[in-house]
Amino acid sequence: MAEKNGIRYTIKWSRRAKRLKVALYYDGRCVATVPVGFDIRIVENFIDKKSKWVLDRLDHFGKIRYGAPRSSRKTFLDNKDAALALAEERIGHFNRLYGFKVAHIGIRDQKTRWGSCSRSGNLNFNYRIIYLPAELSDYIIVHELCHLGSFDHSKRFWVLVGRTVPNYLELRKELRKEGIRYF
Ligand SMILES: [Zn+2]
Repeated sequence: MAEKNGIRYTIKWSRRAKRLKVALYYDGRCVATVPVGFDIRIVENFIDKKSKWVLDRLDHFGKIRYGAPRSSRKTFLDNKDAALALAEERIGHFNRLYGFKVAHIGIRDQKTRWGSCSRSGNLNFNYRIIYLPAELSDYIIVHELCHLGSFDHSKRFWVLVGRTVPNYLELRKELRKEGIRYF
């Protein structure tokens, strides 16, 4: 964890990254993804120059954390990129263990679903995952990811989910109860 102008951020080295990418999450995390061998001073400079923007965004996320704004086309377009960054980052994280072949990650504005998975390996998520507490968005992401290993809701499927989200039963219940608040 590094810090600049009161902004705490994590640096993630990536062999696939071609340039510096800074992602902000609703739970206050700031993650800078950089190509291997990247000059750390450039990250510091970027955070330094953009610190007002970063703090404003984090403040905004802090406000929406306990209840999503009214849904509209604009809300979707404004938050789509953040949702994609979250989904990509968490899939990268969990898939280090599973090693499934993910074809494409998409973000949608769906009225009743949190996520879906197609047999061809496409994972889709509702942009509203950014409003959820991290444990719940992680559960949704792991759930869809594990469908790449088991397409049904069999015992085998839940064993896969349980490898990274051992308390999935509890989270499933919480999502049913609380999730509706975010729609
Ligand atoms: Zn499912």
